[in-house]
Amino acid sequence: MKIAVPKERAPGEHRVALVPDVIAKLIGGGHAITVERGAGAAAFYPDDAYAKAGAAIADGAAVYAGADVVARVAKPDDAEVAAIPAGATLVGLLAPLGDPRSVERYAQRGISALAMELIPRTTLAQAMDALSSQASIGGYKAVVLAAEALPKYFPMLTTAAGTVQPAKVLVIGAGVAGLQAIGTARRLGAIVTGYDARSAVKEQVQSLGAKFLEIAGVEATGQGGYARELTPEEIAIQRAAMVKAIGGSDVVITTAAVPGRKAPVLVTADAVAAMAPGSVIVDLAAETGGNCELTRAGQTIVSEGGVSIIGAVNLPATVPTHASQLYARNVQALLTYLYRDERLALDANDEIARGAVIVRAGEIVHEPTKSALA
Ligand code: NAD
Repeated sequence: MKIAVPKERAPGEHRVALVPDVIAKLIGGGHAITVERGAGAAAFYPDDAYAKAGAAIADGAAVYAGADVVARVAKPDDAEVAAIPAGATLVGLLAPLGDPRSVERYAQRGISALAMELIPRTTLAQAMDALSSQASIGGYKAVVLAAEALPKYFPMLTTAAGTVQPAKVLVIGAGVAGLQAIGTARRLGAIVTGYDARSAVKEQVQSLGAKFLEIAGVEATGQGGYARELTPEEIAIQRAAMVKAIGGSDVVITTAAVPGRKAPVLVTADAVAAMAPGSVIVDLAAETGGNCELTRAGQTIVSEGGVSIIGAVNLPATVPTHASQLYARNVQALLTYLYRDERLALDANDEIARGAVIVRAGEIVHEPTKSALA
């Protein structure tokens, strides 16, 4: 297959879909790869490293010429969609429900499209799980941002000038991002508490050396290991129970999400007011509405009481070298798995293709997108 790797153009998107060592492996598997000039520059993968790995470097329309697959990180803009050859397959974090009209444009262009975030999170697909590889980076970076913004140390220190108490960190939502945030905050020496509406994660939180915050009367285990949406009564119980824990924390990192829904608001303005001046909230759910009532996506605001609230957006793109490396391996695993009889097999009888293909040869096949467009 011929695989094209365009340069990402979305503001702040510093990742690249394939990195040189992964390209060398794909070329070893018989594929040909063209990389747009400068595609890896923002992630510190220079053109000559791609050329050394065996990729052709091209500009403009030549990037896409004859491509069977276009591998991207974020969804393409209209001009980029127009450049994709009819019959090719677009692969990326396409966020179909965030912009259903974009999916319509893929169909009109006569291409196929596969959304990496819709790959079923089964054991078979673990190596392709870009949601996990990128969420983990987000969880790590959230702690680094919090440590940077907090006017205190994270670790306990015993010095000749006296003892410094460790920072208290509360992580709300202990999925992939939350568990990485817990592990990172622990490694920096903070006292960490984790909370999730799925009590099944209690042991995982404790195994990282954190305490688990118990809230009686709320159990949200839903399908496929995800949380279900809570009732307004359950959310009220949670918010009330959390005010004390939030007020006693120097740092709160929120990652609570329910697939396909707006993020639940768990940190109210009252809870923020209970925090000491200088405390920090990093809201990883900012892009889907925020877990904190005061969050503004893409901005850092300071509350009246002096609490910094960081509305974190696309943190994986701020760690572009490793985010690209891991994402590229996810894409490699996917392409290798789907490559059968010298083509990409996007048939509905394959579990992974059935979950992730949103447009098949010009036809929208993702039911939630169809409903959103109707
Ligand atoms: P996510 O990003 O959808 O949600 C993050 C966390 O928020 C989840 O743990 C969820 O329970 C929690 N949450 C939702 N509503 C909440 C509320 N009101 N209060 C507190 N917490 C709330 O989830 P994710 O991190 O992508 O994945 C969640 C789970 O999916 C994992 O823990 C795991 O069980 C499963 N998973 C399985 C695989 C696999 O088997 N290959 C891979 C990845 C994830």
